[in-house]
Amino acid sequence: MADITSAPDVAEIGIPKDQWTEPFWQATALGELTLPRCASCETYRWPPGPFCPSCRSQQVEWVPAGPAILYSYTVVRQPAAGGEMKVIAPSLVEFPEAGGVRIVAAIVDTPLTSLAIGAALTLRWNSSGEDNVPVFAID
Ligand SMILES: [Zn+2]
Repeated sequence: MADITSAPDVAEIGIPKDQWTEPFWQATALGELTLPRCASCETYRWPPGPFCPSCRSQQVEWVPAGPAILYSYTVVRQPAAGGEMKVIAPSLVEFPEAGGVRIVAAIVDTPLTSLAIGAALTLRWNSSGEDNVPVFAID
């Protein structure tokens, strides 16, 4: 069985940034994965936005995401030049210590046979220019 061969090309994605997501990208540029949490009631907010979904406070603090687990995934096989097969694994990554927030991210450097729901994930980075996008591996 083929292994995961690549993550999406960050330069092609064109990451949308706004005033609510900018702190996330500023942290990733420093190699830190943080999530927004309400400074009033400590409810995590994902996606980032102007109001807490629980208490409507506008106060937000960015805190370390903590350990990650594989919540769900799919495997995409894409024919590439030279008869090769590009294999990517888009996934839902969950942060149990951050209120169960889930983000979409790619799994990299992992044999397909290792993919398992609930597996502990190790943070890696997929970089292009100033953008540093979190990706994950199963060690
Ligand atoms: Zn709140």
